[in-house]
Amino acid sequence: MTESERPTRVAVVGAGPAGMYAAGHLLEAPGGTYLDGRLQQLVSHDVEVDVLDRLPTPWGLVRHGVAPDHPDKKLVQRVFEETAGRRGYRFFGNVELGRDVSAAELSEWYDAVVFATGAAGDTRLRIPGEDLPGSISARAFVAWYNGHPDATDLDPDLSGERVVLIGNGNVALDIARILTLPVAELARTDIADHALSALSRSRIREVVIVARRAHLHASFNNPELEELGRLPGVDVVVEHDDLSYGLRDALDATVRRKVTTLQRYATKPQHGHERRIVLRFLSSPVRVLGDDRVTGIRLGTNRAVLDGDTVRTEPTGVEEDLATGLLLRSIGYFGTPMPGLPFDDHRGVIPNAAGRIIENGTPMPGRYVTGWAKRGPRGIIGTNKVCARDTVRSLLDDLERLPTARTLTAADVESVIRSRCPSVVDQQSWLIRDAQERRAGRAAGRPRVKILT
Ligand SMILES: Cc1cc2nc3c(=O)[nH]c(=O)nc-3n(C[C@H](O)[C@H](O)[C@H](O)COP(=O)(O)OP(=O)(O)OC[C@H]3O[C@@H](n4cnc5c(N)ncnc54)[C@H](O)[C@@H]3O)c2cc1C
Repeated sequence: MTESERPTRVAVVGAGPAGMYAAGHLLEAPGGTYLDGRLQQLVSHDVEVDVLDRLPTPWGLVRHGVAPDHPDKKLVQRVFEETAGRRGYRFFGNVELGRDVSAAELSEWYDAVVFATGAAGDTRLRIPGEDLPGSISARAFVAWYNGHPDATDLDPDLSGERVVLIGNGNVALDIARILTLPVAELARTDIADHALSALSRSRIREVVIVARRAHLHASFNNPELEELGRLPGVDVVVEHDDLSYGLRDALDATVRRKVTTLQRYATKPQHGHERRIVLRFLSSPVRVLGDDRVTGIRLGTNRAVLDGDTVRTEPTGVEEDLATGLLLRSIGYFGTPMPGLPFDDHRGVIPNAAGRIIENGTPMPGRYVTGWAKRGPRGIIGTNKVCARDTVRSLLDDLERLPTARTLTAADVESVIRSRCPSVVDQQSWLIRDAQERRAGRAAGRPRVKILT
């Protein structure tokens, strides 16, 4: 086979939504790719894609982030399974960039490399006491209940009556639901068994979700906010906000709907349920309290000030202590540097232009980025589809100019990877594990029982 006849070989690092969508665009479905309002053929020749992930399982945050009580959000895995079934697709799990392979090696072995490594760090509160035992990032807590191998030993202390969550995005609401839902409900999900067992012994009665700004600026989405009101056995309380000015602000329909829901929660009589979720606004964390572990959090109260059509937040100077033994910091994920690749410390992303990785102002030949590693930790699963398509378009546009002389064959790559990583999980091994998990799930009335070893 001549150089021009052989398939283009692409490595995708990261088997989360962005990586899987990138693989899907590269191994284009027969109908083509949706672009500019119609289906078009993006790829005009044979492409082979190897997807590498540091975990033994694919799908990134669809498996380890999306809340277990939202199984519908995980249905997207069917799209990824369809991609994985296409000719030219291979999976190598348990292969970590920086540990088992370097970015430079991948660039040599493949015609092009797409990095889709997500955002594996946290935004920090930057207040005293933040690192005391009992203060945990939401990322770690979510990873724990979803059975991420890095978090199985977390062992959060659920023996107190109150948990305080700092930050009011959808992730905070996911956690609040997991902490307050009846265990019988959780037992029908794919939550990790260790989390289910710990939550069945939990003494938590109250989850306080703290936000610095007023309700108008709440980050959570409407469906997630409205779902709180339907949780069985849970009261929802709104504290520390003047909801009356809400609808006077120049509001779009989305914010208006949010404010209306919050007003409904604020005026609804409490049912004296066993558990409650408190949405507390206009409160900034000042200091985590405790000597050798968390005993509480000091909050500075703010006031909302109407300024024309907008609402500003300013401190009142009043502080208040809230007792808790478990503080969950949920103010955002943040990217971490990937070995051998440039990194923008400020934005927490791999610097790029239309997905082409930029180093010292110039595109690095044959290196691309997509997903949260490209845009930062924003956007839902579907956002990564368009993001990956744009990156793949850049890659395909560059194809003629890519350095390809030393590209390895599929067989050669596999033998190097297997010699370095004896515990590599290929697509066949993953499918066996997947089937085992689903079988165990069927027997227990759950979507799957995750194998955690
Ligand atoms: C808690 C939480 C809940 C969410 N819930 C929803 C929801 O309900 N609905 C929705 O639409 N969106 C949801 N999202 C958003 C959605 O999960 C993201 O948009 C999406 O996962 C981002 O995709 P990604 O591929 O960029 O990153 P990720 O999903 O994080 O995938 C990155 C992959 O790269 C791998 N990787 C990292 N480093 C390396 C390395 N060095 N070597 C090899 N592999 C590596 C990781 O193991 C991982 O598999 C949620 C996000 C979070 C955090």
